Amino acid sequence: MDEPHAVVVGAGIGGLSAALALHRRGWRVTVLERAAELREVGAGLTLMANALHALDALGLGPAVRRGEHAEAPGGIRDRHGRWLSRVDGAEMTRQLGTTALGVHRATLHRILREALPASALRTRAEVEHVEPGPERAEVRYRGPDGPRTLTADLVVGADGLRSRLRAQLWPQIPAPEYAGSTAWRAAIAFGDAVPAAISWGPAAEFGMVPLGGGQVYWYAALTTPPGGHAPDELAAVRERFGDWHAPIPELLAATPPGVVLRNDIHHLATPLPSYVRGHVALLGDAAHAMTPNLGQGAGQAIEDAVVLGAVCGDGVDALPAALAEYDRQRRPRSQAIARAAFRAGRYGQQLRNPLAVAVRDAALRLTPARAALRGMARYADWRPPAG
Ligand SMILES: Cc1cc2nc3c(=O)[nH]c(=O)nc-3n(C[C@H](O)[C@H](O)[C@H](O)COP(=O)(O)OP(=O)(O)OC[C@H]3O[C@@H](n4cnc5c(N)ncnc54)[C@H](O)[C@@H]3O)c2cc1C
Repeated sequence: MDEPHAVVVGAGIGGLSAALALHRRGWRVTVLERAAELREVGAGLTLMANALHALDALGLGPAVRRGEHAEAPGGIRDRHGRWLSRVDGAEMTRQLGTTALGVHRATLHRILREALPASALRTRAEVEHVEPGPERAEVRYRGPDGPRTLTADLVVGADGLRSRLRAQLWPQIPAPEYAGSTAWRAAIAFGDAVPAAISWGPAAEFGMVPLGGGQVYWYAALTTPPGGHAPDELAAVRERFGDWHAPIPELLAATPPGVVLRNDIHHLATPLPSYVRGHVALLGDAAHAMTPNLGQGAGQAIEDAVVLGAVCGDGVDALPAALAEYDRQRRPRSQAIARAAFRAGRYGQQLRNPLAVAVRDAALRLTPARAALRGMARYADWRPPAG
């Protein structure tokens, strides 16, 4: 019998993870990526315990943890540096079976890429249309030599926030919405140790995450109208955060001009009624683009991929039931996390009213460490399916 064939649309973290999960279950995979080169732009990512367990299931845990830095203490501070809530990293590791980890996006992307056969990856391949079935799916794309068509037993839509597959197959779902905030990010060389921590001011947040190897990822977020840009984005961040507590001014001083990325934060405000249509399954931001407030977007994409691989392990005949099971396992959890991330943004970074900020900060200070940890562990406490 021929090996089953999957076409994965998009070579982001979700698409590469899905390709690897299926490849490890005996599928032939073809990844179509519209970009000319396979590289991940971006800065850092926090991988919570669930994401690390999912990467373990893909056999990539050791590579991702290589060069792991000492477990940094972390938590939430106010803009003056007073701790509102602290996380006991050792206790978290004990409860969840692994620590959380900061990783450069480019590093994670390279690790995923290198685990796949090079022949599986096609760049300059922009997917224009997909037919989901009923027998096999068909993908039409524009390659370097013109239009092409592929048929496949399974098509994985991992084409991100602005997913064309989602828009085509679920036209009733409105496009992603602006979530109210804009984020600036950079990964920089920084000699001093920093905690993995976020700091809140009125309608503003600054986060820092050690990446190991003398690198730190920082991000800043503000509630502001969308579509803005500054001639010098670093200067714009300095203007708003330059008088916050140490080491925020020092991190900004150590940031080279030109490396700061600016993104308006969008999310899929209307949840999809299914992640599956015929022989097509969506995953990652295509399925559930969420705000970054819980640091779970990429983590959920990797979880999706691992579950998809696990349910598709029995080949093509079992595919309809497998995809129904994928939807059953993934949609409630990822959509609940997307809702929680949006709420976390409203109550955290976006809170502006001084009285509300004071009440929130007092409530956080009074929350026992154990309860705070339970809150953080709520979504990070996930294990891949057995087998
Ligand atoms: C400011 C910010 C901070 C974040 N921080 C974190 C964090 O700390 N932890 C975390 O887990 N997540 C975080 N996230 C979320 C995370 O980055 C995303 O959820 C994740 O990268 C989504 O991966 P993906 O593969 O689904 O989509 P993408 O990374 O968007 O990949 C989609 C790919 O599909 C390709 N593509 C699109 N259309 C087509 C087409 N028609 N044909 C062919 N190819 C196509 C694109 O070129 C792209 O390569 C953050 C996001 C933001 C904006």
